[in-house]
Formats: sequence, structure tokens, C-alpha cells
Amino acid sequence: MANPVQAIRGMNDILPAESPRWQFVEARFGELMAAYGYQQIRLPIVEKTELFKRSIGEVTDIVEKEMYTFEDRNGDSLSLRPEGTAGCVRAGIQNGLLNQGTQKLWYAGPMFRHERPQKGRYRQFYQLGVEVFGLSGPDIDAELIMLTARLWKQLGLVDDVRLELNTLGTSEARRAYRDVLVEYFTAHQTQLDEDSQRRLHSNPLRILDSKNPEMQELIEAAPRLQDHLDDESAAHFARLRELLEAVGIEYRVNPRLVRGLDYYARTVFEWVTDRLGAQGTVCAGGRFDGLVAQLGGKPIPAMGFALGMERLVALLDEHPFDETPYQPHAYLLLAGEQAEIAGVQLAEQLRDSAPALRVQVHCGSGSIKSQMKKADRSGARYALILGEEELAAGSVTIKDLRGDTPQQQLARQALGDFLSREFDLA
Ligand code: ATP
Ligand code: MG
Repeated sequence: MANPVQAIRGMNDILPAESPRWQFVEARFGELMAAYGYQQIRLPIVEKTELFKRSIGEVTDIVEKEMYTFEDRNGDSLSLRPEGTAGCVRAGIQNGLLNQGTQKLWYAGPMFRHERPQKGRYRQFYQLGVEVFGLSGPDIDAELIMLTARLWKQLGLVDDVRLELNTLGTSEARRAYRDVLVEYFTAHQTQLDEDSQRRLHSNPLRILDSKNPEMQELIEAAPRLQDHLDDESAAHFARLRELLEAVGIEYRVNPRLVRGLDYYARTVFEWVTDRLGAQGTVCAGGRFDGLVAQLGGKPIPAMGFALGMERLVALLDEHPFDETPYQPHAYLLLAGEQAEIAGVQLAEQLRDSAPALRVQVHCGSGSIKSQMKKADRSGARYALILGEEELAAGSVTIKDLRGDTPQQQLARQALGDFLSREFDLA
């Protein structure tokens, strides 16, 4: 036999056993977005490479070494999107959305980065993201953090994650701070690793984001941005903290939090966990007031975040998960050829009368015993049996596969009502 073709390393299949958790997260997120008044935007997966260079920054891990970049048949340089913000801003400008007042947008989908695959770090991974345009105050920063906090509540992950917060100040304040940093790291140049050496003049703030354990002491002792913050950013940050405290959201100010992309200013935040080893950031975001203008739009403020689906699902895996909403309510067993016709009629009638009912019809015949095994494996609560006896009587036999409702025969017309009542399907 020919060798089967394998998937690309770091690009995963999400199999049926895992997908209920994914659906659960996506459904809760979608509901939350509607509840807070956010609208979905759907964006291309491929963009011009230039877009990412101009937004994320040339001297970032993503653009320097993680992008899937290729030439298409016209010789244009294109890249698989490594994140969603750049495309969202591009679409907002191109379609005139950003001239139409405040926009509160969300997106979902795969992102691509050529990183070393490991637990929680893949080459194709999925993000849910939110971007708000046209609002400059700390109230919207607080709202985004509040709605993520509510998402953890609805996913049952409140005890798994904690919030880290920082402010990067305005770009002017950062420029002044940058000089101070360059001076500090130049004085300790021998302790810098190769990446940091390279970044010393191109992007010294990135050094603070280094994950190299040997650099942590040096980074810890570096001058702090807080001490070089402009007044307006300081006031913005103070108000954000006040708002979070008013709704009881706990956080830790982490002065080392700088985020891995160039476009952030003022507020940055991360939700982190200790349960996933080194890949501990579940959700990350911040303010990017300069980006719209940088990409050719009007200068309008913006704030957003993205969360990593794989890491969230990995957290869910640590908790009991109720699969029943993803399984059939009932599995219909059919004994004999006569039953096949009556069976499909019955199933279609049930679906007409109770559209929310999940009823799986047995296909492929087989003994009642083997059908019963399949019914059990499907996770259905009830087995519905249609055999010769039931056909003659115009009835159906109902067997409770999970609970202790005694086995009973019901008239077929009464079945819809019974199941609707049983599962509260109004
Ligand atoms: P990290 O510090 O883990 O590399 P990042 O700062 O590169 O994350 P962002 O670009 O801010 O991450 O993306 C937001 C979220 O997307 C992350 O917090 C994480 O949950 C998820 N994420 C990022 N890269 C990957 C990846 N390669 N595989 C899986 N999830 C990822
Ligand atoms: Mg990264």
C-alpha cells in the first residue's frame, strides 16, 4: 500500500472527540459578543506581506522568522496571516468602516506562525479576537477586560487564569524611555543574548519580552517605564484600574509586560495561567492608537485582544465537561425492512414537530443487539425501538440508556410530546 500523506508538523486535526469543547468555547464567545454589542467581521487568511511588515513591525519575532511567506503566480509577496489585527485594520480602512464612528468588531479563525511546535504552540492555531475603533478612553479598555473575565466565568475557568496589566505610555514617552533602556543594556552588553544584541538599537523594548531565563535577572533590574510615563497615560491607567476595581476584577500590574508586537501603546494586558507550562498566556491585548494612521487611515484610537483557542481548550480539558448537549437525545433502532420506511417517516415527523430535537436514525441495518451497542456509543439518552410488534401496534418502545425511567411503549403520535417534555424543547 502507498504511504499515507501526513499533515504538516504543527498543524493539527481537531477530531470529533475534541470538537465539542471547541464548539462550546465558540458558542459562549459568540453569545458574549452579541450581549456586549460587538459585530463579527470575516477576513481573508492571506494578505500582502507588506501589511504585516508595516503593522506588526519588521524587527519582531513574527515578521523576522515566523511568517509563512510565498510568492503567488503573479510574483506578489503574500503571507498567511500570523494574527488578526493587521487584516482587521486594513479591512476597516479599505471599506470605510473606520469613518463611520465607533466600530466594535470580533473575528475568529486560524493564524499561522512558523514556530517550534510544542504543547500550546502550533504552526496553525486558532484565535478569537476583538478590535474596537474610535474610542480613546479607559472605559473601553475596561470593557474588553470585563468581557474576557465574564468569558472565563461562563467557561468555568475563573480559577485557572489571572490578569496582568501594564501601560506602555504614548509613543513619545516610549521614545524617551527607549534611550534610557539602550543606555542600560549597552552598559551590560556582554550579558545580552544574540537576539537581544540585535535588538539593542532596532527595538530595545523587545529585550524586556525575552523568554531567555539567563537574561531574566538583567531584565528585572532594568529601568522601568513607569518612571518615564507621560501624565496623560498615567491618568488613563489610573482610571482603568479604578474601573476594574469597581467591578471586582483582580489584577497584578506587571511592569515587564510589553507584548510581542510593535503597535501597542498605553494599556496592555494578558490573562495567564500556571496550568499549561511555558505556554501560559491564554489571552493578550492592548491599545494600538497609532496603527490605523500607520496603515494609511485617519488617526483613530483602537484597542483589542486575541485569545488562543488551543490553550483555552487545553484548560477545559482539565475539568469535567458535559458532553450531553453535543450528543443525540434519541437513537432510533429499526428491526426489519418494514421498519425502515416507518422509521424515516417517524424521524422526519419528530424533526418537524420539535426542530431542536437531536434524533439519530440507525442506518445500515444489523441485529438489534448491534444497533443497541451503537445507540449506547452515540451517547443518546433514549433508544427508540421500532420492530414488527411496534409496527403492528402503531407504537414505539422507549428504553432509557442512562437513567432509570422504566421501559415503555408509546403511541407514535405521542412520542414528539414525550421527548419535547423530557428535554424541555418547547
Ligand atoms: P506567546 O508569548 O505565547 O508567544 P504571543 O505574544 O506571540 O504569545 P499573540 O500574538 O499576542 O501571542 O497572540 C494571542 C494569543 O494567541 C496568545 O496569548 C496565545 O494564546 C495564542 N497564540 C499565539 N501564538 C500561538 C501559537 N503558535 N500556538 C498556539 N497559540 C498561540
Ligand atoms: Mg509568540
